[in-house]
Amino acid sequence: MLNDTQQSEGSLRRKRSRQREKVLDIVRSTKSHPTADWVFHEVRKELPNISLATVYRNLNLLAESGEISEVICDGQLRFDANKEEHFHFICKSCKGIFDIDEARVTPDFKLPRGYVVQDLRIDFYGICPACQTQRS
Ligand SMILES: [Zn+2]
Ligand SMILES: [Zn+2]
Repeated sequence: MLNDTQQSEGSLRRKRSRQREKVLDIVRSTKSHPTADWVFHEVRKELPNISLATVYRNLNLLAESGEISEVICDGQLRFDANKEEHFHFICKSCKGIFDIDEARVTPDFKLPRGYVVQDLRIDFYGICPACQTQRS
């Protein structure tokens, strides 16, 4: 027989993992690289009692475990469930972030002597195809 404390710990754990799965589902359901606020808004449709702090905590946990990644765009923290290696194209007009799976990039940089490059992060900025169509 479980006593009350053990029972509520068990149900708390179940509740927490359900919340985390829901947050992950929501991030995976979109390619828009959502903010925490957006995820909160969507999760609340199904878990009305969830708090923004809980959504933040789950997003951090998922990022730490590598299920999702964090993207800083325009100084704003966003989340990405696309685990494939890819570049980001940020549209200056609609502020959308688009995944670019393939881009030919030739890193022909000249750095001062003594700097050893270990990692390179590239984001592209410009106007996305949809915004170009609207303009013309
Ligand atoms: Zn655009
Ligand atoms: Zn992405």
